[in-house]
Amino acid sequence: MNLCGMSAHALRDGIAARRFSAEDVVRAFLDRIAAHDGRVHAFLEVHDTEAIAEARRLDEEIARGSEPGPLAGIPIAVKDNICVRGRGTSCASRILSGYAPPYDATVIEKLRAAGAVVLGKTNMDEFAMGSSTENSGFGATRNPWSLEHVPGGSSGGSAAAVALGLAPVALGSDTGGSVRQPGAFCGVAAMKPTYGTVSRRGLIAFASSLDQIGPLGRDVQDCLNLYNVLCGPDPRDATSAPGGHEVPEGALLQGVRGLRVGVPWDWLGEGLHADVEAALGRSVEALRQAGALVGEVSLLDPSYAIAAYYIIATAEASANLARYDGVRYGASARGAEDPAGLYTGTRSEGFGAEVRRRIVLGTYVLSAGYYDAYYLRAQKARRLIRDDFERAFAMADVLLLPTAPTPAFRIGEKTGDPLAMYLSDIFTVPLNLYAGCGINVPAGLSADELPIGMQLLAPRFGEAALFRAAQCLESRLGTLGLAPEPAET
Ligand code: GLN
Repeated sequence: MNLCGMSAHALRDGIAARRFSAEDVVRAFLDRIAAHDGRVHAFLEVHDTEAIAEARRLDEEIARGSEPGPLAGIPIAVKDNICVRGRGTSCASRILSGYAPPYDATVIEKLRAAGAVVLGKTNMDEFAMGSSTENSGFGATRNPWSLEHVPGGSSGGSAAAVALGLAPVALGSDTGGSVRQPGAFCGVAAMKPTYGTVSRRGLIAFASSLDQIGPLGRDVQDCLNLYNVLCGPDPRDATSAPGGHEVPEGALLQGVRGLRVGVPWDWLGEGLHADVEAALGRSVEALRQAGALVGEVSLLDPSYAIAAYYIIATAEASANLARYDGVRYGASARGAEDPAGLYTGTRSEGFGAEVRRRIVLGTYVLSAGYYDAYYLRAQKARRLIRDDFERAFAMADVLLLPTAPTPAFRIGEKTGDPLAMYLSDIFTVPLNLYAGCGINVPAGLSADELPIGMQLLAPRFGEAALFRAAQCLESRLGTLGLAPEPAET
């Protein structure tokens, strides 16, 4: 039996029926990581000893007949910007190398309470700034479908791990697309919940008004099951929303008859890859055949969202990253003669080029004299973008569009051109400014055998409709299964 190719819900059923044990499952994934991760570099740290001990504990509980939770024995890979007590949590930044938080993020507490087993920490763009995982301070991750291509980012390690069967499910974080876009490039289901539904306590902040933790999995059902475990109010996160947003599993069976699906055709002209356009056509047809009412919606030009995002996100990042001064966390420059020297030394050695670029941009747009021209205007633009989405969602229950304009690009292709890199998020960023929910659903392979992803978007707290539409799309388009094992290099 190939445990590593199974969905988390199939593994859960197998463990519950005692067809195999939690320890069998955890060992199967650890063995596969040992055999294959060297080529894709999805993991920064693997927690073998703790994972096996935890699986054994769960097996004993199951043997005693107790109900160990909805994710009992399910291994999960965790993006390295989410705190796991006592283990390295670096955000793939040298400035945090050696930092081990003294507490578990709320999402980790919830996962453990549900019986999930943390397998290890996954690679990412440094501080989640990027779209390719090439900005990691510890080396890039590769796309398991083609080692010359990027896995997307910034949650590229989590997406690559799920795609290659190194973990059945994973956590990522999505500030401007970082769960959905790597989900698309690696061919896995990947969901961004409504802002506020999942606690950010213990997620190391990049841009606090946009950041949201989300699940990646082999299928829509796995994303739903994880979402239901992760969501809920948290008194320790001031931006957490009131509860009651779980989606009953039965919602997936409801189908889409009568559901209004809007496609923003205005967005989908120039720059859209022909294979992505064809996949969109198949998706429209699939939803139509299932009884959805597919029509057109108009939305503000997404280039406004990109402009506003790169002002708001960098402004917030420059404030959030001020705490890395060489005194309180992680790395500290040696040989400094005074505090200013310590700060400058630590920050210039510790941060990579993209993070430095964003801190400089963010400081500039917040500075006296430029605040009104940039930051304030970007906030006003954000309000207009939100109103625009509200208007669109009065006419459609969900929106359908590609997750990215192209399949995965080549490693190195966009590293010299930050603006081209920023534009690869054109279809994902607007949703974060609005604060709604979205999901990537795999929609087949391109002619070059690279995954293509379709995105569904729903209003704030519209997860039920989102999952219904996603399940319908997946059942008609099919999942991709595991990426082919990388050839020997
Ligand atoms: N690629 C976008 C950025 O670089 C989004 C990142 C994210 O969602 N964390 O900011």
